[in-house]
Amino acid sequence: MQGDIRGFIGPIPQKGKRIHILGVGISGLLLGWHLKKAGFEVSLFSDSSKTGGLIHSEQRAFGMVESAANAVVWSKHLEQLCAEIGLSPLAANKKASKRFILRKGRFRTFPLNTLETLRLLISLFQKFPLSKDEDFETLAKRVGGDALLNYLVQPGLYGIYASEAKFLGVNTLFPGFAQSLNENKSLWEALKSVFPSRAPGGIRKGLHSFEQGMMSLTDALAQELSQNIHPINELPAPDEHSHLISCAPAYATLPALIPEYLKSFLEKVEYAPLISSSFFFRSDELTHLPQGFGCVIPPSEGLSILGILFNDQIFDHRVVSSEYRSFTCISGGYGRPSLTLDYPEQGWKEIILQDFLKATHCKALPVDCVHQVWPKALPVYQPAMPALWDSLHQACLSLDFPFSLFSNFTGEISIRGLCGTAAIVSERACRG
Ligand SMILES: Cc1cc2nc3c(=O)[nH]c(=O)nc-3n(C[C@H](O)[C@H](O)[C@H](O)COP(=O)(O)OP(=O)(O)OC[C@H]3O[C@@H](n4cnc5c(N)ncnc54)[C@H](O)[C@@H]3O)c2cc1C
Repeated sequence: MQGDIRGFIGPIPQKGKRIHILGVGISGLLLGWHLKKAGFEVSLFSDSSKTGGLIHSEQRAFGMVESAANAVVWSKHLEQLCAEIGLSPLAANKKASKRFILRKGRFRTFPLNTLETLRLLISLFQKFPLSKDEDFETLAKRVGGDALLNYLVQPGLYGIYASEAKFLGVNTLFPGFAQSLNENKSLWEALKSVFPSRAPGGIRKGLHSFEQGMMSLTDALAQELSQNIHPINELPAPDEHSHLISCAPAYATLPALIPEYLKSFLEKVEYAPLISSSFFFRSDELTHLPQGFGCVIPPSEGLSILGILFNDQIFDHRVVSSEYRSFTCISGGYGRPSLTLDYPEQGWKEIILQDFLKATHCKALPVDCVHQVWPKALPVYQPAMPALWDSLHQACLSLDFPFSLFSNFTGEISIRGLCGTAAIVSERACRG
């Protein structure tokens, strides 16, 4: 069985071992910071001079653009971390609380019609034990038919996991929810386990970022660890006195150092391609848009984009003045033809812009746009992942040097999840 801390594969570091961390994305930085604070001698090794991995915030002429994560769901671990590294979080604006789903070209807060809603309400009190390795498409169809799949489950999951529901395992994403369904609890009871437990009193809630963007977090951690970060060519050969932890993506985890059988497990982790496109418009061109967080777009709408974030409404400081609006669209995803690879560059840029204009019923052209292409953006949380995590865990334990894996493919994809796991691992390592 996989180790008992979700999101961390392989042995927990033991006192007295030097820690060698590969990769300085948010996973490596969080783990490095926590283990250093716990008294471990920590070195991080990077293949690039840039820290933060996927996370990058750029100031442009009309405002700020995030290349990947734009926010984090707050937690007690983030609250504690930010207090200790002196970062002030920025809460999402209340006016951005409405989320929309596009159905037949219209922004709706709830996309199902009366009959579809009735079917869903009845299902809430029914039981849906899962078949082995059940995926979300199968479950959604059993619960509420095509409408639930197309207008709620598919776009919701696409927006976070960048994959079609048929490729996402119920037990992989939400083990507590899957367990409740298999214990014969009603769908309603099982759903309660999906939502993060309420933060304890006094702790902020909901989505947060930082005035200068998400890169403030990775920059602050990198600053704290500045003496501990080294180029990858200085990584010493693994031995029993040091604990090597790969915080790099599965496809980049030290092919030269690890045995073939471990590599063959890592090769099974698939990644979804994504394009993140940010547009700035003059505000007076988009006065017809409702206030809110943004909208998700079901594939059945026939657009290339999966969703649109209304950046300037979610957080303050995202545009230089109220004369401008800022939006980010996400396109691509696993199981959809990849715009990235199949079209010449100008072709896909135009397709994304036209689809944005179609979705928002806007006729104007943007004053600025910036695209970030990720050929391997996010790991696909397929139904077979839990078995793969078990195999990887056993393979790590069988090596003759301490080796572990901690990244967004090892069980937690969100920054909130990665932060929680890094804190728990270091608490456990401290206890010995
Ligand atoms: C478009 C997009 C939007 C997102 N939005 C959100 C959001 O709003 N909220 C949220 O919580 N999450 C979001 N996520 C997810 C989150 O950003 C990622 O899961 C997280 O940043 C992954 O961090 P990581 O450190 O595991 O991986 P990475 O960021 O990929 O970092 C990996 C590191 O390993 C290094 N590396 C690679 N190969 C080697 C090698 N051979 N040797 C040494 N180092 C190596 C890289 O240089 C990098 O520093 C989003 C992701 C994407 C793509």
